Amino acid sequence: MPKRPNLSFQIAIDGPVASGKSTIAKQLADQLKMTYIDTGAMYRAMALAAQRNKIDWHNGPAVATLAAKIDIRLARPAGKKKDGRPVSVYLNNEDVSWKIRELEIGEGASIIGIHKEVRKILVKLQQDMCDGKRIVMEGRDIGSKVLPDADLKIFMIADQAERVKRKQKQLKQVGEKVTKKQVQADIVSRDTREMTREIDPLRPTLDAWQLDTTHLSIEQVMDEISKRVKMLEATQRKA
Ligand code: C5P
Repeated sequence: MPKRPNLSFQIAIDGPVASGKSTIAKQLADQLKMTYIDTGAMYRAMALAAQRNKIDWHNGPAVATLAAKIDIRLARPAGKKKDGRPVSVYLNNEDVSWKIRELEIGEGASIIGIHKEVRKILVKLQQDMCDGKRIVMEGRDIGSKVLPDADLKIFMIADQAERVKRKQKQLKQVGEKVTKKQVQADIVSRDTREMTREIDPLRPTLDAWQLDTTHLSIEQVMDEISKRVKMLEATQRKA
């Protein structure tokens, strides 16, 4: 039977801060030649835009009004932009890929993520980016809201101590010197907000595969997921 190269296949990866989503989603997309979409980067770019426009992150309607006016674009890093960033992020054509990784902007993204008006706009943008593509999308509400019919839903978790270690390493990369205590406080605050928010709280769907990455290497996680994707794609081709 001839191959169907453009077959749509959607992988949704959700989970709390520093559970391993970004590293795995990015590598998986590269390995399987899929489009990688980091939805957290969109919330971060939105938080940065609000901060620059002196809009309070807690003011949902004002942030949503701004969201409707600005342009957020994600791109695969190429040429000189291959500097270790997971994805290139453009806010009104300005490259903000590293700026949005700061601890403060992460907190802003978590705050603006509680507003239903803001989520509505970003969810629509994310759904529009997926149409008919082979995609790996990561975030907090991908399996539950953005791609409820995804072919594979993964809910990634890891022990808090391991997540603190990973997050501190990521922050070091953007030149932020933060103590373990500060990182831990940030993780606890974001976890609590994301799991208890009214709209699209972070929680696994019933059909999600819960994958604990605490004691697994990146290679082991990649291997586990790749095997499952191959099996699912083969089943899809036969159908
Ligand atoms: O994944 P990352 O840490 O970059 O996301 C930043 C913040 O954006 C998260 O802490 C979360 O509150 C919010 N977010 C969200 N829904 C998504 C992706 C991210 O609420 N799909």
